[in-house]
Amino acid sequence: MRAIDTTYIDGSFVAVSGTERLDIVNPATETSIGTLRLGSRRDARRAIDAASRAQASFSRTTKRKRLDLLRALAAAVLRRSSDIRDATIAEYGAPLGRARWISQYASDCFTLTAEVLTDYEFSRRIGDATVLMEPVGVSALFAPWNAAAGTICSKLASALAAGCACVVKPSEFAGLQAHIVAEAIHDAGLPAGLVNFVNGRGQEVGDELARHPRIARVSFTGSTPTGKVIAGSAVESMKRVSLSLSGKAPAIILDDADLAVAVPLALRAGLQNNGQACIAATRILVPVRKIDEVKAIARSAIDTLKVGLPTAPDTELGPLASRAQFERVQRFIAGGIKQGATLVAGGPGRPDGFDCGYFVRPTIFGDVSRDMEISREEIFGPVISIVCYRDEDDAIELANDTDYGLFAYVWSGDPARAQRMARELRAGEVLINRIAPELRAPFGGVKQSGLGREFGVYGLESFLEPKSIVEGP
Ligand code: NAD
Repeated sequence: MRAIDTTYIDGSFVAVSGTERLDIVNPATETSIGTLRLGSRRDARRAIDAASRAQASFSRTTKRKRLDLLRALAAAVLRRSSDIRDATIAEYGAPLGRARWISQYASDCFTLTAEVLTDYEFSRRIGDATVLMEPVGVSALFAPWNAAAGTICSKLASALAAGCACVVKPSEFAGLQAHIVAEAIHDAGLPAGLVNFVNGRGQEVGDELARHPRIARVSFTGSTPTGKVIAGSAVESMKRVSLSLSGKAPAIILDDADLAVAVPLALRAGLQNNGQACIAATRILVPVRKIDEVKAIARSAIDTLKVGLPTAPDTELGPLASRAQFERVQRFIAGGIKQGATLVAGGPGRPDGFDCGYFVRPTIFGDVSRDMEISREEIFGPVISIVCYRDEDDAIELANDTDYGLFAYVWSGDPARAQRMARELRAGEVLINRIAPELRAPFGGVKQSGLGREFGVYGLESFLEPKSIVEGP
């Protein structure tokens, strides 16, 4: 049991002023593993004050100083990688392999950003102007519960490389993971106030950050409805805002793809992170004449999928993160059945052999039409729809017929054909015959999946503001 009563402000862990305590529950066992005391608006203001003080000198630091800092952060986070991994398993339910990856990624973010910073020119000539890329100022970094450590570190790396002091607002449902990341960051020995963390409810702490006039930049990752609220609050003081939001990614399997490879991989893309991934491939689009073959492969892939305790090395699918998530996903499964979709695999309730934990049966629906809720809404669980298309044009039309546009996937035996299709898809990133994103490339969504881009040089520039200085003769 761990009682987290402090938060990281101005270089030390200070008592939280809020009084509400949240139970931290292990989603695999439904047992309490700790408590998190939630911060208040007052804590948010203290953190903003500390970051504002740090900003004044940090904005003038040299590239070399920031590179040293990023390297120190990479090393400090790496030293805590097994703790981050264990917290990601215990608090979130990520299978061991995924938890390992995320804990390594949390450190890699700083290394990758250091590479970008090394080659970045903060000053350039355009016509008669000298254009300076200046830090935008104190930044609020919002993270969701489904990718806590990675999201926090990725945003921090870009913000610090640009010269911005930060207030991190982790999800209140990832308090343990965020606390360990904060401890690691403290160990890196940064100037006091440069990085601060405030736990708390979105409507209170998050709202304070989104509205406060001294926050110049909001980098938000979370759901589309919350993103809209934050953007509305932030515009009052004209904050620079980026939003990484919900998704409903299509995976188009073309008729020349090797189905035995493509279908299991598409399912893996849909079930990644226990199905709780913004980039999950949740609509698998297949040629109508291949539907029986696709269903048979999907059924057997799900039959052999290892659902289990996240601590077990061979587990591929763990529990959902919370009871609320479990109930939400069960409602979608029941709704899909009610609306007339057929079950290819899975269905309501827990998988056989589980009588506790927020485990959901990996569920594949067939006979899904585009107007069904399961094919339109982000479910955020291991529930995938298989949708048939007639020809390539129909596939593109179906794939783009969504409010979202974060990721898309294409499988084909013909690279040129897949490339042509990728160009027609309205998504921030299209993966062809693979499911691992390129972490140096811009990351973000079109339509209601977001605004702006993160990662690499695009992430760095999202924390910079160009200033043109033009001199007379
Ligand atoms: P959420 O929108 O509920 O919360 C995200 C963050 O915003 C949390 O820190 C929360 O406390 C805060 N918040 C909530 N309400 C707020 C308010 N009114 N004002 C200010 N702050 C507020 O999202 P979640 O449930 O934590 O995460 C899951 C969602 O995030 C999914 O929709 C998923 O697709 C999305 N997501 C997107 C990406 C991406 O990169 N595009 C990555 C991971 C998750």
